[in-house]
Amino acid sequence: MTAAGSSMGGRPLLLTVDTDAAIAAINVVDVDHYLLKPWEPPEEKLDPVIDAMLEAYTGQPDVEMVETKLIGHRWSAPSFAARDFLARNAVPYRWFASDEPEGCRLLQAANLGAERLLPVVITPDGSTLVAPSTTELANAVGLSTAPAIDFYDLLVDGRRPHGWSADRDPWPLEASVPGVFVAGDVRADSVKRVASAVGEGAMAVTLAHRYLGAP
Ligand SMILES: Cc1cc2nc3c(=O)[nH]c(=O)nc-3n(C[C@H](O)[C@H](O)[C@H](O)COP(=O)(O)OP(=O)(O)OC[C@H]3O[C@@H](n4cnc5c(N)ncnc54)[C@H](O)[C@@H]3O)c2cc1C
Repeated sequence: MTAAGSSMGGRPLLLTVDTDAAIAAINVVDVDHYLLKPWEPPEEKLDPVIDAMLEAYTGQPDVEMVETKLIGHRWSAPSFAARDFLARNAVPYRWFASDEPEGCRLLQAANLGAERLLPVVITPDGSTLVAPSTTELANAVGLSTAPAIDFYDLLVDGRRPHGWSADRDPWPLEASVPGVFVAGDVRADSVKRVASAVGEGAMAVTLAHRYLGAP
């Protein structure tokens, strides 16, 4: 039985209790390394494989990160709002404090004086934004800020919305498109709490299964 698969530095590692599976993995999917359990004694059967992988990993050049630079100050609420926004939207960024050398250098390079507003955002293509609005920041880092279609028909209020196509009232969490269930902050009148979002998510799964006729 193959117990797990993992990788380090892009090199796949197979963890298995089955020698045939290991040989098949080497031949079929080009696995570089495998570990057979039990690996007693570990000094002979585990450590050399891990050492070889670590050596290969540390020998690789650093991958250049394409990232947004965010220069802010620890007492600047807008700076932390921008951090929060980028993090919540999974945008890679690096934080620089405006009163530390690298932050000062970046601000000087952008021709910004001591009176500048914070945060300052430098995008991977070199554009500089000073105290951007959320929309400006989103646009600068490539997030979508405009609806892709004219109308999103996803009302959830328990009543039959205009154009409701099913011959029944909407179920809890069901949107105005029958069979689409909506949970969390995106739902109308959500209470904006983690516990509610998680609970509604669980309900939405059950309701979707029921809609599909799952046993
Ligand atoms: C600053 C702050 C503090 C909070 N404090 C609390 C608290 O103390 N206690 C509490 O209970 N609640 C708190 N909340 C509210 C809580 O965080 C939300 O109610 C909850 O996270 C909602 O969960 P969700 O799954 O609906 O949305 P989210 O947690 O916002 O998840 C939505 C996910 O969808 C992703 N996403 C968005 N657009 C796309 C796309 N186009 N494609 C793919 N993915 C996309 C986002 O990146 C995100 O990961 C706080 C909220 C904020 C902003």
